[in-house]
Amino acid sequence: MKVLVINCGSSSLKYQLIDMTTEKPSAQGLVERIGLEGSILTQKSNGEKYIIEEPMPDHKKAIELVLGALVDKEHGVISSMSEISAVGHRVVHGGEAYADSVLIDENVMKALDDFIKLAPLHNPPNIIGINACKELMPNTPMVAVFDTAFHQTLPKHAYMYSLPYELYTDYGIRKYGFHGTSHKYVSSVAAEMLGKDLKDLRIITCHLGNGASLAAIKNGKCIDTTMGFTPLGGLAMGTRCGNVDPAIVTFLLKECKYSVEDLDTLMNKKSGVYGISGVSSDFRDIEAAAKEGNERAQLALDMFKYRVIQYTGSYTAIMGGVDAIVFTAGLGENGIEIREQLGNSFGFVGAKVDPEKNNVRGEARIISTDDSKVKLMVIPTNEELMIARDTKAIVEK
Ligand code: AMP
Repeated sequence: MKVLVINCGSSSLKYQLIDMTTEKPSAQGLVERIGLEGSILTQKSNGEKYIIEEPMPDHKKAIELVLGALVDKEHGVISSMSEISAVGHRVVHGGEAYADSVLIDENVMKALDDFIKLAPLHNPPNIIGINACKELMPNTPMVAVFDTAFHQTLPKHAYMYSLPYELYTDYGIRKYGFHGTSHKYVSSVAAEMLGKDLKDLRIITCHLGNGASLAAIKNGKCIDTTMGFTPLGGLAMGTRCGNVDPAIVTFLLKECKYSVEDLDTLMNKKSGVYGISGVSSDFRDIEAAAKEGNERAQLALDMFKYRVIQYTGSYTAIMGGVDAIVFTAGLGENGIEIREQLGNSFGFVGAKVDPEKNNVRGEARIISTDDSKVKLMVIPTNEELMIARDTKAIVEK
């Protein structure tokens, strides 16, 4: 069985054709600048690159070219579109309606429309991508896999904000959490690597990338996560501020005369480790600057780690202990130094880093010492594979 995984952004589209026998991609690609000048599709398969540069005024045209590239006689990996058994779409917001992935039908499409108000930047391109695929492949089953679904198991006392209850009932204001597909994937791989049932484990998954979030996963169920109503909440991130005193918002609006748009940009694009360091949103640049004595860069790193440690303590408390802490995403998979510093600061739960084992990038591995009470692990995330697995399971049902 071959599953096409589509992740549609507003002007870009990532895709993978995954062979479910091997669970490996036979081809993967990226389309950039959809609807803009200079549209470009880059596909990688069998170690070669295939590039298509032609106008792509909309997502339908982009997906048409993706399908063309996949079946291309010279550069393609399948002989006809009928070899694609199903399409799995990444969808950012599933609201409270979806605690799991779902076969897309008219009702699902209506629900996705409803969720636009919750994810105005992300859900519209996801919907456009689904519609374009439906037009081009009307007989192929499509599955929606939501970033929010894995967090639907949060208890009510964890997902509610202490605001008037009517804001929840009238507007759906509550914690939803994001990166769910990643947290779900790495927690399941962690259980496999430890040779244990997920139901017997308490895991903290640390998705540390440009966007960053932690999840507390007790007996296979997520019981808390750091992102909130939107992906702005929780940890300090590349450019996002994470949790701040909410009164700062009204202060900036009233006293500093910020417009709503300016404030949105400030908190989403100019804050986090970028805003503190003034150097970059990339941890590699910040680490390099800190080594050269840049105090603000060092402060940004210290603040970032401080919050990861705080949440780890908090999640250990709510789970009544912790068995494994997993690092994933760009920084989690590659940031050897930060991982060592974080791992050492988890000594309070009985975790000990083995510096030699930790000397690894982008490879699944236990990085704690053999006598460490809590296992520290690096597990490269693979959201595409998780989407493909869910798609296969739903289509086979
Ligand atoms: P992601 O959003 O998961 O793609 O993660 C991207 C982030 O990972 C980048 O902004 C970098 O800060 C971080 N990153 C990637 N490679 C390294 C590395 N070798 N050392 C430290 N940070 C890294």
